[in-house]
Amino acid sequence: MVVTIDPSSGFCFGVKRAIEQAEKILDKEGKLYCLGDIVHNKAEMERLEGIGLVSVGRDNLDNLKDVPVLFRAHGEPPSSYLKADENRLLLTDATCPIVKKLQDKIRKAWEEMKERGGQVVIFGSPGHPETIGLRGQTEGGAMVLQTPGDLEKINPAAPVELFSQTTMNTEEYMQLASNLRNRMRDHFAGHSVPLKVHKTICGQISGRIPRIRKFASSHDVLVFVGGSQSSNARVLFNHCREVNERSWFVTGPHEVKAEWFSGAGSAGVCGATSTPRWLMEQVAERIRELPPWK
Ligand code: SF4
Repeated sequence: MVVTIDPSSGFCFGVKRAIEQAEKILDKEGKLYCLGDIVHNKAEMERLEGIGLVSVGRDNLDNLKDVPVLFRAHGEPPSSYLKADENRLLLTDATCPIVKKLQDKIRKAWEEMKERGGQVVIFGSPGHPETIGLRGQTEGGAMVLQTPGDLEKINPAAPVELFSQTTMNTEEYMQLASNLRNRMRDHFAGHSVPLKVHKTICGQISGRIPRIRKFASSHDVLVFVGGSQSSNARVLFNHCREVNERSWFVTGPHEVKAEWFSGAGSAGVCGATSTPRWLMEQVAERIRELPPWK
């Protein structure tokens, strides 16, 4: 049986870059504090903790002084940078460059909206670290909407600059923009609607669904590797299931079962944006080693 690993599965560029930066520091220092989990995958977290990475919450930042600290790919609000300065932390800022750019755009939009009496709106999860960092660029003044129908908080008679957390669903974001435009149209009859929609969903995420569906449908059996807590993993796995009913979800090689591959000529291994490549390789190796199943 031919076993193939999906070349486009695994860490996105921002997470990969943050982990490489962390590994470099750990190599030199032996210990590094990271504000929040650097990646939502238990196996990868255990590996990094094994070489000295310590995850801390924002509340614990107060207790750290003069130690190396990393800000992960999701980015941080300005208050975290102030705290790092105050506590003389040796800061490595691993904020993804795409998130950094988005933060800059939101900050500029906020300045402009303040002058024009307008609003900055972010489509995202209020508790998600990236959204906390984005909202932080607006002195906490931006509104966060979680669903396309969640429009009540917005004043339809004032200008709006609309942004999205980089990992949101594209269709839902477009739906939200269209709902908002329709609502604002009533207040600006005969004039152009002062709504600016910024396309800020990351291409590394939005392109992944069609790619993974194609990969899943081109193999007899599909094994998806992901963390049991990862929502991205569940969403992507469901897409695989839709196009290939012989799709299985595992958190590691120990969960792979020989009977799944009965009569199969090919098996594909893929994963979420939080799945490390080495874990997918271990799963592929396990499949190759399985005794034939009758
Ligand atoms: S913006 Fe894209 S590349 Fe950067 S961390 Fe988010 S998903 Fe990854």
